[in-house]
Amino acid sequence: MANIILLGPPGAGKGTQAKRLESERRMVQLSTGDMLREAKSSGSEMGHKVAAVMARGELVTDEIVIGLIRERLTEGAEGGFIFDGFPRTLAQADALADLMDEVGQRLDAVIEMQVDDAALVVRITGRFTCGNCGAVYHDETKPTLTPGVCDVCGSGQMQRRADDNADALRTRLMEYYKKTSPLIGYYYAKGCLTSVDGLAEMDVVAASIASALDSAN
Ligand code: AMP
Repeated sequence: MANIILLGPPGAGKGTQAKRLESERRMVQLSTGDMLREAKSSGSEMGHKVAAVMARGELVTDEIVIGLIRERLTEGAEGGFIFDGFPRTLAQADALADLMDEVGQRLDAVIEMQVDDAALVVRITGRFTCGNCGAVYHDETKPTLTPGVCDVCGSGQMQRRADDNADALRTRLMEYYKKTSPLIGYYYAKGCLTSVDGLAEMDVVAASIASALDSAN
């Protein structure tokens, strides 16, 4: 059992690797982006409040995301938690350390997924997913076999994220470099950072993460 953070810019592959760890190691993915999108589509007051901020690609307040994580942490996870897209600021990182103390858990590893910016733009602006089963596709690198139909579940509900466009992506990258990238130094200094090449084949990235996890245990 291990608790880990997947750290990296938008499009680095954090969500894909988190899903793999969930199925292979019975870990639980805590994606604040997914939680916020759920709040948005459920029409809650908070969802309403964050919708415009997210569409622009800016970060929502620390208070909101820390509250979301606090709720989920108390539920526990047999194989450990994968923090995906959280923390994104130093204040969130400090809050996470306090929350882990409160629930008697520790952070075992922080995996930095390195990807160059040009690759991120290509990855993100062509990305679409199946609204039914969550399968991820790409216009150029991984199109569906039949246009508009999911290869996995046959659904025709293909979706693109509102913030997967060139303008919002520029803001998301700026937010990442200004507010999130200092966490790389922060966790390095804490002695728990491992960097992996996020542009390698998916299986190679997964193997690097697995070995970081096993050596942290
Ligand atoms: P993601 O799915 O991780 O790319 O997140 C989508 C959007 O949700 C981000 O661009 C932010 O607007 C918001 N968001 C997700 N996680 C956080 C976080 N930890 N702190 C602040 N905003 C977040």
